[in-house]
Amino acid sequence: MKDSQGNIKVKDRRKIVILGGGFGGINVLRRLESKFENDFTVDVSIVSKDNFFLFTPMLPEVSSGMIETRHIVTPIRAFCKRARFYEATIRSVDFQKRQITIANVIDSGNDQTKWHDHVLDYDHLVISLGGETNFFGMEDVKKYSHTMKSLGDAIVLRNHVIDMLEQASIEQDVELRKSLMTFVVVGAGFAGVETVGELNALVRDAVRDFYHDINIKDIRVILVDAMDEILPEVSNDLSKFATQKLKESGIEIILKSPVSTATPSNMKLKDGTTIGTHTLVWAGGVTPEKIVKELQCEHDRGGRISVNEFLELNGMNGVYALGDCASITDKHTGRPYPPTAQNAVEQAKVVADNLISAVRGGNKVNFNYKSRGIMAQIGKRKGVGILFGIKTHGLLAWMIWRYYYLSHLPTFEKKLRVLADWFIDLFFKPDITRLKIFTEGQEAQTKTFSGDVNVSSESKTKSETT
Ligand SMILES: Cc1cc2nc3c(=O)[nH]c(=O)nc-3n(C[C@H](O)[C@H](O)[C@H](O)COP(=O)(O)OP(=O)(O)OC[C@H]3O[C@@H](n4cnc5c(N)ncnc54)[C@H](O)[C@@H]3O)c2cc1C
Repeated sequence: MKDSQGNIKVKDRRKIVILGGGFGGINVLRRLESKFENDFTVDVSIVSKDNFFLFTPMLPEVSSGMIETRHIVTPIRAFCKRARFYEATIRSVDFQKRQITIANVIDSGNDQTKWHDHVLDYDHLVISLGGETNFFGMEDVKKYSHTMKSLGDAIVLRNHVIDMLEQASIEQDVELRKSLMTFVVVGAGFAGVETVGELNALVRDAVRDFYHDINIKDIRVILVDAMDEILPEVSNDLSKFATQKLKESGIEIILKSPVSTATPSNMKLKDGTTIGTHTLVWAGGVTPEKIVKELQCEHDRGGRISVNEFLELNGMNGVYALGDCASITDKHTGRPYPPTAQNAVEQAKVVADNLISAVRGGNKVNFNYKSRGIMAQIGKRKGVGILFGIKTHGLLAWMIWRYYYLSHLPTFEKKLRVLADWFIDLFFKPDITRLKIFTEGQEAQTKTFSGDVNVSSESKTKSETT
């Protein structure tokens, strides 16, 4: 149906709705935008709770201050040439009615959060809602640990670590001082290993350059995991290389040791070991969000959405899932694809192509991706990885890592800014400015969280509000 000017009425357009503005969602959007640039029969919308796309592989570098906060985020609207963007939370999906309920928050910060609901109709739906940190039901660990998932997490962790250095430099109680100088990261996957590498570099550089009251030998940076090796995604010898390099840079590694409990000032392992620390970073895994687990569709045992080879939900024509929230079996390994940005980006190409076929006519394509490689940074100027079957480590791996991820960072402006950050870091000391951006009430709350010592840890207050 056309109106008097010959334009197709909005209600007659094919509506594609994308849920999530991360690696999966944004890359579906970008491919659709380029294909449907002048096609007014299609109406694309994207919904995400943040108004920016976060480039997570560089998040640990934000936590160490190597990269400025805003340089690894891009506004989602920058990708929307014709698409509509809604900054909102997805509340429910009704597959029968083909409707999504989304909500924005009015007056947040008051006693009562006021959700304002809106309903979106769809003809085709893309679910790419990522995941949240998995605490395996340990409420105390959740309460007293930092996470490394959002931009807010990285900012909070950096402020907290600098705060620990300030506290340690005036503290006379030897045991307390030691625990303030002990930093523990749990989880030896990519996020955990990259975070511990950055944290270690920040603490050691800062103490060497600025905190002359602190003995560098008192610093303990510890990586803990329940498994028997770090970086299980890479080969055994590369994992051993990474272990050796982390140890050489002063990081202690404790393996085969699940965590049992945590308090504001210590953490316990299942074997009974207690480590005094005021900084516990939890990077122990991801699990789908509640909204994903509760969708009326097939899930795997971990709650991820099961999809077929076209990345379509079984029995639901036109509904796709991808990225960390989807369970897709890798035919090359027989195991599910791991939750990586690389996989989400490749899946996005297939989802977008299948949507284009659905609109324009054509055959569906299979997802049959074989990883070309995997890389991780393990501290300053060190990396490990496998590329096209070739193992690489050390400075070369680190340089390839940087080149690869810089080339994938959206927009020329952000690439230039990150490049400038890396360049500047070569010549200057770390910036140890700690910005206090809280109101009086919030400051009081942070003190409660900090427990017996009066150390402010913004993590709880800040991460709960971000
Ligand atoms: C610190 C860190 C380092 C990493 N390093 C690497 C690396 O080096 N290489 C690599 O390949 N992978 C890496 N990863 C993993 C990678 O980030 C994920 O695999 C990837 O982001 C998955 O993409 P996604 O689109 O599925 O989810 P995400 O990128 O997480 O996107 C999910 C989106 O959904 C939105 N959303 C979620 N719930 C809702 C809701 N209820 N309402 C509205 N919006 C919602 C979120 O705001 C977000 O925009 C790293 C992850 C972390 C945390």
